[in-house]
Amino acid sequence: MTAPQRALTYFPAPRTQRYCSQCGNLLARRIPDDDNRVRDLCDHCGAIHYQNPRMVLGTIPVWEKQILLCRRAIEPRHGYWTLPAGFMELGETTAQGAARETQEEAGARIEMGPLFAVLDIPHVDQVHFFYLARLADLEFEPGPESLEARLFEEDEIPWDDLAFRSVATALQLFFADRARGSFQIHTDTLQRGIEPLPVPPTP
Ligand SMILES: [Zn+2]
Repeated sequence: MTAPQRALTYFPAPRTQRYCSQCGNLLARRIPDDDNRVRDLCDHCGAIHYQNPRMVLGTIPVWEKQILLCRRAIEPRHGYWTLPAGFMELGETTAQGAARETQEEAGARIEMGPLFAVLDIPHVDQVHFFYLARLADLEFEPGPESLEARLFEEDEIPWDDLAFRSVATALQLFFADRARGSFQIHTDTLQRGIEPLPVPPTP
């Protein structure tokens, strides 16, 4: 077995697979019979390696007027601020995953609220879900994926230092709903391109 060319890790792993996960043979990329998309196929054992979008689950944890954000200790976007969120694991619901990520990244105890935003990001093959949540107390214990976790008033949100556009969008929708006095479920699509982060809502 040859050593990998680079010691760097990919995260997430590239979507294109080279070897069959069932038998280890090299895969071919082509459209299977009765299909209309290119797949990674194993001509040795017949396995078809379907790839589907990944779910990212997070919360908007609130304490009175303040929002809990975490500063990332991992790439991508090391050092930037984010709502607690991460990839859905097998065997959990979206709400369970959002609560788990909040516990893992912020060490925060929360009372989960309703689903708030579903953001499609087709150019990175992801869907981001954000749930409303209420902090049960002010004891945070940031996990290894976070440098720190702290509360922000609306006018303190570090808009220029947010890690992801989905986080900025979720926060913007949240503050707009809060100003209106009622929360609803939002759906939006974040398109490809280097777009500026949303302008923070004016008070
Ligand atoms: Zn195979």
